[in-house]
This record gives sequence, structure tokens and C-alpha cells, in this order.
Amino acid sequence: MTDQPRIGQVVVLCAASGTGKSTLAKKLLSEFPTFGYSISYTTRKLRNGEVDGRDYHFVDRQEFIRLRDESFFAEWAEVHGNLYGTPREPVTRMLEAGKDVLFDIDIQGARQLRSSFPLGLYIFLLPPSYGVLAQRLAGRGSDDPQTVALRLENAKSEIQAAPEFDYFVVNDDLERAYADLRSVFLAGRLRSTLQAGLVDEIVSSFEDSGLATFGKGA
Ligand code: ADP
Ligand code: 5GP
Repeated sequence: MTDQPRIGQVVVLCAASGTGKSTLAKKLLSEFPTFGYSISYTTRKLRNGEVDGRDYHFVDRQEFIRLRDESFFAEWAEVHGNLYGTPREPVTRMLEAGKDVLFDIDIQGARQLRSSFPLGLYIFLLPPSYGVLAQRLAGRGSDDPQTVALRLENAKSEIQAAPEFDYFVVNDDLERAYADLRSVFLAGRLRSTLQAGLVDEIVSSFEDSGLATFGKGA
């Protein structure tokens, strides 16, 4: 096995709210603990069970705008009436350290990230149908009916933007969807662009061997 340093991979997971993005992201992070996760800033209110600094950094609108104006965010967007943004510095640090970084962001954010990281893996997670999405959003029990209605109303146009993405994963059965997501991630890790130096290392092992002498002797 080679010791060549790898470059971290940008993995962007997008979906309409309630599809199961956080559920699948958690599974990926627990199977691959070396994964870095980009903890976003948001002006949304904390939900039951969420922890400030773990799920999000929760800030008020004034603080968010101050940070945005200082170019603190690699991307930011207004989603369902709240502001969300990815802090630039931790992401750069993790990628430079060779860590793969997972982003759970909306479509506007994914578009912005693509201009900085064109070689990332851009994955869109699809619900099997409107009915299933509505059930999951309501069943999660974390949002009031008005918020659920707003998220469902936005879902159709979000799903219509899915063809901008490189991969589709349908979250019908959780284990099957996870197997697909995992395959995309593992295939992405083998990309030649993330393994600069590997070929040179193997070629130099030919030069260090007796093979050149063989050729000359024939
Ligand atoms: P998102 O992060 O996309 O908003 P969540 O991960 O919070 O969505 O999932 C929404 C709800 O659907 C949660 O209650 C979750 O447990 C449930 N859920 C997620 N994936 C599945 C699935 N494949 N089958 C059934 N329920 C699911
Ligand atoms: P939620 O409020 O359900 O946690 O997230 C709502 C939406 O905001 C989801 O689509 C989620 O992916 C998106 N989101 C979360 N963090 C960010 C971020 O940093 N930037 C952008 N653009 N969207 C985000």
C-alpha cells in the first residue's frame, strides 16, 4: 500500500427537507469516522434533541449577517425563511489535512460550492414520492404544521433541480439507499485527481528495480 498523501474529497448531499438526508449522513459519518463534517451556521431555532456546535452553530440574524459580510462563509443561502452558511476556514483545514468532508446543504449552496470545488461528488437524494415525503416530514414531529407545509411547497422545485447533480440516490428502503450512497462515496475516493503522485511512486519503483538491467542484457 502506498503512503502518498491523499487530497480530501468534497461530498455534497442535497435533498428536499424530510427526505432522510440527516439520517443517511449520520450513517456515513458513523461508518467512516475519519470523515470531516461541515457544521453550518444557521438562524433557525434549535429543534428538540439538537445541540449547538454539534448539529449547527445557532446564531441570530444580526450575527449571521455580520459574519457573512466578513466573508466568513464559503457559501450561504436563505432556505425556508432562515439563513444557513458553511464556514470557510474549518472546511479548508479538513480538506488540506486529507479528510473527506460531507456537506448537508441546499441547492443554492451546492451551486456555489461547485464553483469552488468542481471535482466534488454532488449527490441528490430523492424521496420515492410526494406521499412518502409528506409522511416523513410530519412523522419527524420536529416542525409545526405551517413549517411542514412550507417545506413541502418548496420540495417540488428543489426536486426539479436534481438533474444538476451527478448522482441520484432514492431513499425508499433506508439500508438499500445507504448501500447506494456508500458506493458513490467509495468510488469517488478512487478518483485519479485525489491520488496525485500515486502513478509517479509506482513508476519510480520500476526504475529502482532490476527491470532496466534486464532490458539492456537482452
Ligand atoms: P432530512 O435531513 O432530509 O430533513 P431526516 O433525516 O430528518 O430528513 O428524515 C426525516 C424523517 O424520515 C425522520 O423521522 C427519519 O427517521 C425518517 N426516515 C429517513 N429515512 C427513512 C427511510 N428510508 N424510511 C423511513 N423513514 C425514514
Ligand atoms: P434544516 O432546517 O432541516 O436543518 O435544513 C433546511 C435546509 O437547509 C436543508 O436543505 C439543509 O441541507 C440546508 N442547509 C443546512 N446547512 C446549510 C448551509 O450551510 N448552507 C446551505 N446553503 N444550506 C444549508
